Amino acid sequence: MAGDNSQFSKGVSAAREYLLREFDMGAEFLPQSPPRQAEAASDVMARPVVAEFPDLLVEPDLKAADTLDAVRDVLGDCDRCKLCKGRINIVFGVGNPEAEVMFVGEGPGADEDAQGIPFVGRAGKLLTDIIEKGMRLRRDDVYIANIVKCRPPDNRNPEPDEIVACEPFLAKQIAVIRPRVIVALGKVPTQSLLQNRTPISKQRGQWHDYRGVPVMPTFHPAYLLRSPGEKRVVWDDIKQVMKKVGLPIE
Ligand code: SF4
Repeated sequence: MAGDNSQFSKGVSAAREYLLREFDMGAEFLPQSPPRQAEAASDVMARPVVAEFPDLLVEPDLKAADTLDAVRDVLGDCDRCKLCKGRINIVFGVGNPEAEVMFVGEGPGADEDAQGIPFVGRAGKLLTDIIEKGMRLRRDDVYIANIVKCRPPDNRNPEPDEIVACEPFLAKQIAVIRPRVIVALGKVPTQSLLQNRTPISKQRGQWHDYRGVPVMPTFHPAYLLRSPGEKRVVWDDIKQVMKKVGLPIE
């Protein structure tokens, strides 16, 4: 019987190696396995203490908000920047309010604006694959938000004044959730969170810090749709995230 188990284990291992190689060659993320909770994470590292940010909490109600619902209430029918003019919906963020991994993208696109949910278009499908097929979590296990919560016209990049207007709400979401790790998806979230102008290609794959929370920048899923050969490096970045939060990689 022990021999049978050993053969079975070798078979599983070989199959997974094969799939990982397929992935490395630019194929889609690993086939979906049954979703599961990130139960292994609790022993890996304590939840970070998010640094105080009085510079951003100039609104007393936002300072007092201690749940995501309270943050959403303070945001209200926001007109704090000009992006309010063209939006259909505010895309606040979705997921587990106690998520260990938080993904931060750039801003809503047309699909996200229409539905009020981040990452639901083609790029969103790829992010979901990364979460479900690569990390073997459910989308509901993580939290997904954007640097700005309203769609920039013609999908242009958010402008500095828009990012500054929206950051207090993202910062408060991070402070309430206290994720173990933030994954910054692409140039805009990376440069915004890290307050620099360094190209994403020079920042991805290395750990950074946002107010005490480890940040792993990687390429945006929309970029991967245009450059599928870069999936391999994104998988390398995601494996670092999985290691950091104690998720089994193989
Ligand atoms: S992008 Fe943010 S700050 Fe600007 S209107 Fe939308 S929710 Fe308000």
